[in-house]
Amino acid sequence: VFDKTEGLPVIARQADCQTCFLCELYCPEDALFVSPFAEQPQGIDVVAARQSGLLGSYRRAVGWTKDSEHLREADRSFRLFGQ
Ligand code: SF4
Repeated sequence: VFDKTEGLPVIARQADCQTCFLCELYCPEDALFVSPFAEQPQGIDVVAARQSGLLGSYRRAVGWTKDSEHLREADRSFRLFGQ
């Protein structure tokens, strides 16, 4: 999906995106947001996206940030319950 450049990576093959959210999950800068609407590209306003809190929202929702670590407990409980 992305091409490496001398500067910031650029989206080069958006149609290849599988909406797996891994790029958003692993971006430590919360620089991107994966739209859950995979059927067609979604327009986005950068200022509005920053203000909305969408950037990095998946990372926070699954407990991968310092402020949301407590959410990881749900995964641990599920694993224990499943055993
Ligand atoms: S959501 Fe998944 S498939 Fe799509 S660009 Fe990110 S890592 Fe690649």
